[in-house]
Amino acid sequence: MVSITSEKVIRWLERFAGLLAENKDYLTQLDAAIGDADHGANMDRGFQAVLAKKSELEGKDITTVLKTVAMTLLSTVGGASGPLYGTFFLQASMAAGGKSDITPEEFGALLEKALAGILQRGKAAVGEKTMVDALQPAVETYQATLKSGKPFAESLLAASSAAEKGMESTVPLLAKKGRASYLGERSIGHQDPGATSVNLLFRAACETLS
Ligand code: ADP
Ligand code: MG
Repeated sequence: MVSITSEKVIRWLERFAGLLAENKDYLTQLDAAIGDADHGANMDRGFQAVLAKKSELEGKDITTVLKTVAMTLLSTVGGASGPLYGTFFLQASMAAGGKSDITPEEFGALLEKALAGILQRGKAAVGEKTMVDALQPAVETYQATLKSGKPFAESLLAASSAAEKGMESTVPLLAKKGRASYLGERSIGHQDPGATSVNLLFRAACETLS
């Protein structure tokens, strides 16, 4: 039986923090084109603060780990992405039900709750050029692949490639939400920074959870 332990979740967060640090300038460049050039700095600051709490996270259940991440992001990130990623991890933490290891099915329920939180908070739909364009197809693909009987690792890989496709799909879109929407037509032709960080979140998941 595959089990997603609290320890693996911590490795996931660490890997995401690493990818954000590596891609900080890239994310900032993307945000410079259609926003205010701070998405890389925002995400990196938040996840460096998460890394600083690593010793506090070790040995804790998944709810506690993810709730600590949510609170850390809410207090350090700001902007649009702070509350949105904060909501993602807060909803995920509640879905983990205080457990220290969960099944792939429970992980799917956790992703669904996290997505629902972002949709409720940001009121964006697929096609509006936000992180939702990567997140929603990733979560839906994970669920569909797992429910069709495929193993966890394969479901996670399918989710990650759906996130990548979703990220790429934002390039020709006209932004309807967030700062990029102020640009109107001029937002067309640029990849959304938030969808790009979501792609890193799923890449990190593939490398650490399965
Ligand atoms: P800010 O826009 O406040 O500077 P960031 O630059 O950190 O914050 O994050 C920008 C990203 O936030 C966008 O690329 C987009 O993916 C995401 N975003 C903005 N508004 C929304 C929204 N209403 N719903 C979902 N995602 C959003
Ligand atoms: Mg910004």
